[in-house]
Amino acid sequence: MSDVSVIGLGEMGSALAAAILRAGKTVTVWNRTPAKAEPRVREGARLAGRVVEAIEASPTLVICVADYSATAGVLDAAGAMEALEGRLVIQLTSGVPRQARTLNERVKLAGARYLDGAIAAWPRQIGGPEAAVIASGAEPVFVEAKATLSLLAGKLSYVGPEIGSALALFNAALSYLAGHWIGFSHGAAICDAEGLAVETFGDMMASLSPSLAEDLQHMGRVISRNQFDAPESTLRTAGADISRLVELSRDLDIGCAWPSFATSIFQAAIGEGLGGQEHCAITKVLRRG
Ligand code: NAP
Repeated sequence: MSDVSVIGLGEMGSALAAAILRAGKTVTVWNRTPAKAEPRVREGARLAGRVVEAIEASPTLVICVADYSATAGVLDAAGAMEALEGRLVIQLTSGVPRQARTLNERVKLAGARYLDGAIAAWPRQIGGPEAAVIASGAEPVFVEAKATLSLLAGKLSYVGPEIGSALALFNAALSYLAGHWIGFSHGAAICDAEGLAVETFGDMMASLSPSLAEDLQHMGRVISRNQFDAPESTLRTAGADISRLVELSRDLDIGCAWPSFATSIFQAAIGEGLGGQEHCAITKVLRRG
C-alpha cells in the first residue's frame, strides 16, 4: 500500500503528485499516457499499469484530469468502481456543481467517501503558501482529507457540506477573472495604440489593487443586502464612461468587442430604470435566465 494515489499527471496532477512526494509520503500514480509519469517515478512514485491498481494501492485517491467526463471514463475502467469501496476520493478536476453532485452519488454508491475541491493556483505554486484549494463535502470527510490537502495548498478553504459549493465558488471566481483578463488585454491595446508601455499599465493597476479589493467587498455587501440605492457614482455615469470606450477604440482602430459588450449590459440596465443605482445593480440584468 502507498499513502496516496494520484490519477492524472498533466500539468496540475504532476505538480500535486510531486508535492505529496516532497512531503515524504508514498505515492502511486496512474496516467492515460504512462510516459508522463517518468519524472515522478524518478522521485520515488510507483507507476500503476491500470486504474484499478492505482485505486487499490492507497486509502486516499486524488483525481486531477482534464474534466469530469474524463474522470467518469477513468472510473469506467474494469474493476475501478468495485475497488473504490472504503476509499477517500478527492476530486480536484475543474467542472460545474451538477457534475460534482453526479459524481458524489456514484462514488457514494461504490461505498467510498467523496470530497470535491477546486484548485485556484498555478502548478508551480502547488505545495506552497500561495496555492489555494476550495473544498466542499461532508465535514468529517473534509477533516479526513485535510492531511492530504494541506500538503498541496497553503490556503485551504472549506465552504460547507453541499458538494457543489466549491465548484460554484470556483466558477464565480472564473466569471470575475474573465472580465479581469479581457479588460486588462483591451486596456493593453489602448496603451499600445497610444504609444504607452503596457508594463507601466500593469504596474499602475497593481498599485490600485488595494482599493479594488475593497470594492469587491463593497459589491458583495451591496448585492447580498439588495441595497443599491446609495451610490457614490451611479450606474448611468459608469455606463456613459464605458460607452466612450467604444468611441476611443474606433479612434484607435482597435477592436470594439469588449467595450460594445460592456456597453450593452449597462444600457440594458439603464433601459430598465436602474441608472440611478450602484454600478453592480447590473447583476439584476445579468442574473435573469
Ligand atoms: P493537462 O495538462 O491538459 O492534463 C490533462 C490530464 O487529463 C492529463 O493527465 C490527461 O491524460 C488527462 N486526461 C484527459 N482526458 C482524459 C481521458 N479521457 N481519460 C483519462 N485521462 C484523461 O491539464 P491540467 O493543467 O493538468 O489540468 C487538469 C485539471 O486541473 C483541469 O480540470 C484544470 O481545470 C485544473 N486546473 C489546472 C490549473 C493549471 O494551471 N494547470 C489550475 C487550476 C485548475 P494524458 O496525459 O494521457 O493526456
